[in-house]
Amino acid sequence: MKKLFRTARNIFFVPRCASCRTLLDPFGANLKSDCMCDLCLAAWNNAKSELCPDCSKPAALCGCLPELKTGDRLAKLVFYRPEKEKVQNNVIYTMKHVDDVRIFEFVADELAVSLCGVLSELNICPDECVFTWVPRRGKAIAQNGFDQGRRLADLLAKTCGVKSGAVRLFARKGGKEQKTLDAKSRIENARKHIRIARHSEDRFKNRNVVITDDLVTTAATVGYAGELLKKAGAARIVYAAVGKTPDK
Ligand SMILES: [Zn+2]
Ligand SMILES: [Zn+2]
Repeated sequence: MKKLFRTARNIFFVPRCASCRTLLDPFGANLKSDCMCDLCLAAWNNAKSELCPDCSKPAALCGCLPELKTGDRLAKLVFYRPEKEKVQNNVIYTMKHVDDVRIFEFVADELAVSLCGVLSELNICPDECVFTWVPRRGKAIAQNGFDQGRRLADLLAKTCGVKSGAVRLFARKGGKEQKTLDAKSRIENARKHIRIARHSEDRFKNRNVVITDDLVTTAATVGYAGELLKKAGAARIVYAAVGKTPDK
């Protein structure tokens, strides 16, 4: 059924590779082929197996997050270096700027596997977690027409068995785009503009929370968001992102 739906969708909205944007075969036998061409998919899989400098596990299997306190875990798929690896760049760019749900479905399926691995090490059931995201700036959402963090959190929640999807736990007012700032200003920017949404405490008190983002660089934004929830009574915070900038 899912395949039939995908084929029908692909006839009306002919799929392009999420990385190199070439047109793909709408009747492709491989379900994943409606998201990436074979060449880019191979490069993507290769990127997922890049070894983590901290624990020597493949990127998609390790939960390291050295920027935050010991014990904080980040499920991810790839290491992201803006100048070097093309396929990671392109996938994250496509998520940010192209309103194509296929790329989110693909990434959510893959990230769910990594996340379940990290959660099982912590003895946490994925379907008992609260999934949330840190909202983008209103201006960025208006420009793109959607919030990629929200979309990813929602699909990831559903893939992990949470039928109701992600829950909005944060509110954001203004702020600058993090990528234009250095590490210290990123923390200040997050502190100034992110707060817990009103009347949402009951939704996360004593519960394990997964905070999702497309890309984690210094972990300033998600780390601050996680601290806010912990102080307000959340149990364990686990982070999940498609890409992580390596610290070495
Ligand atoms: Zn491609
Ligand atoms: Zn690691």
